Amino acid sequence: MPIDIENIETCYICGEVLDEPISKDHVPMIQFYSKEVRRDENFNLLKLPVHDKCNKSFQHDEDYFIHTLIPFGAKTKTGKSLLEEKFKKYHEQGNQILLMNKVFREFEHTPSGIILPPDMVAKRFEGERVFRVAWKILRGLFFYNEEKIIPEDLPRSFEIKAPHEMPSDAFIVALSVKPILGDYTPAFAYRYAQISEVHNMWFWAFWLWESLTLCFAFHDLDCDCKVCSSRGAD
Ligand SMILES: [Zn+2]
Ligand SMILES: [Zn+2]
Repeated sequence: MPIDIENIETCYICGEVLDEPISKDHVPMIQFYSKEVRRDENFNLLKLPVHDKCNKSFQHDEDYFIHTLIPFGAKTKTGKSLLEEKFKKYHEQGNQILLMNKVFREFEHTPSGIILPPDMVAKRFEGERVFRVAWKILRGLFFYNEEKIIPEDLPRSFEIKAPHEMPSDAFIVALSVKPILGDYTPAFAYRYAQISEVHNMWFWAFWLWESLTLCFAFHDLDCDCKVCSSRGAD
């Protein structure tokens, strides 16, 4: 049962009580959807109230996230539409030119860091920034669906799968029976499951523009295993 949005009193980003100035945070961010898609398809986007300053602190990383990952969506309708929109902006306004140039420079023909299948250009990117945003989206969706706030520093694993790559077997087993969720799934879809047989572990997967899969796994929030309880100790 999702949370009652009208009665939210806590900012899911920092975990503190909401007070002004408050802003509405799109979960996931609205930049996932091109203007064309938003115009042609009728869907509502999930918005959660958060501290304005918490929201703003992600803005640059969110822009980076979209610009650096959208090239992988070039072959699908929602991805292509967004990519073309970015290119158009790039040519017309010079808006965000620095950011676009940075992302273009990241494309390399020799892999360094993240390895992708041989039929793709290897792309190196700032994994920390991408992860920071992905984790924020997950924390927002978790709060919405489960009414619990995930601490930002909760131990977790994170993996990005390129198009044509399969998530690991554990994810497939955990998630295949679960519903596909999302406000407009051709652009952003997600599934999640909690597996009681495996230490109440959570498995989450996002599917971006029907192209990239982002996989997360973490222990339940009240887990007292060695890793979880050592959190924040140093
Ligand atoms: Zn906050
Ligand atoms: Zn644990």
